[in-house]
Amino acid sequence: VMKTYDVVIVGAGAAGLMCALTAGYRGLRVRVVDHANKAGKKILMSGGGRCNFTNLATRPAHFFSRNPHFAISALKRYTPQHFVELVERHAIDYVEKAPGQLFCAQSAKEIAAMLLTECEWAGVEVSLSTPVTEVERCGEGMRLRAGGERIEAGALVIATGGLSIPTLGATGFGYEVARNFDLEVTETRAALVPFTVTSQWKSTLGELAGLSCPVTARCGDGRYDEPLLFTHRGLSGPAMLQASSHWQAGMPVEIDWLPGRSIPDEWSHSRAQHPKRRLAAWLGDALPRRLAQSMMEWQGWSDRPFGELSNRDIEAFAQALHRWTFKPAGTEGWRTAEVTLGGVDTAAISSKTFAVNDLPQLYFIGEVLDVTGELGGFNFQWAWASGVACGQAV
Ligand code: FAD
Repeated sequence: VMKTYDVVIVGAGAAGLMCALTAGYRGLRVRVVDHANKAGKKILMSGGGRCNFTNLATRPAHFFSRNPHFAISALKRYTPQHFVELVERHAIDYVEKAPGQLFCAQSAKEIAAMLLTECEWAGVEVSLSTPVTEVERCGEGMRLRAGGERIEAGALVIATGGLSIPTLGATGFGYEVARNFDLEVTETRAALVPFTVTSQWKSTLGELAGLSCPVTARCGDGRYDEPLLFTHRGLSGPAMLQASSHWQAGMPVEIDWLPGRSIPDEWSHSRAQHPKRRLAAWLGDALPRRLAQSMMEWQGWSDRPFGELSNRDIEAFAQALHRWTFKPAGTEGWRTAEVTLGGVDTAAISSKTFAVNDLPQLYFIGEVLDVTGELGGFNFQWAWASGVACGQAV
């Protein structure tokens, strides 16, 4: 038997559920299918279990894409404030953990439950543990096989997300569908992912595992004032995750260990005023003590009084402390990446409806597209906004 729906959405994640409930409230017959045994697994895992569900400062500039204009329309029509209203209607408590970054006060489960409740109210059918195969065009609509069923849909929405964290159900399915319909898929890369370091650094940095400190990180065009976290495998924390979105193999990452301060000014002053003051003591006050000690060792610095420093010495210390560069060995890859850079090229997609220009019954939304946000709730805001725009248009 063939079942018929107005809209079939593949992927019960952030974008898919948002699209489904929007279309459902319009009175359309909507079916969501997902191969995973639970809806919204990434929502549940996100933000350390508290889901950073939006960022109040959402602007297109916080997104990477081959076409930086593509995201403008949807982001403008569905704003963080819209999502906050939805969250408040469901009486979910939230907190602004960092400027603009809204998290659940209790649990990410509340966001997933909210979306599923809304889907139920909107009459959406959600089928889990249902793998999808054989997607094909059929006249004005689309036809697919899901689980054992044959389904016909007036519109098919691909909301299967990116490649990060395969154990949470990520697959390249959306890219395959795109390629099968002759759409371009831009190069994909793991992003918002910790850096790994070469073996010579592993023991040095490993001793600092767990330590976090504020830095300014620079990589390519990116510059971020955020904390850095030492791990047993390398360098992580928001500063490094953000930098990873700008990083490609071989590129250096630059770290300012004393952001907002000026070694040349402070040390020239100290040399005159406190010539007996010693380097190690100063560093131990300015940085976390363990880091200061370790840095003295890895830089091979001997403890000296400021009075002995030449201008050239001060310049060299300024370079090492304000512009320390290292070449990551790599990243932790898809296993721990929060997002995928790249994806279905937006050139063939309408930024208003998210339909494929030459095949208006096929849609792509969310992370499967070549639109990737910075860290801080932008990726969910993109999922919500693209889901709503598509749900209204489909
Ligand atoms: P997803 O939410 O990934 O949903 C895709 C769905 O498609 C999944 O349910 C999957 O099972 C299904 N699927 C995949 N392949 C198939 C297939 N072949 N057949 C059927 N179904 C399929 N972003 C933020 O903004 N804030 C955060 O705090 C945050 N924290 C994160 C933490 C972690 C650990 C990770 C991994 C990501 C985090 N992100 C965060 C990013 C965010 O989760 C994603 O950008 C967002 O979920 C993308 O939404 P989506 O609907 O496009 O894809």
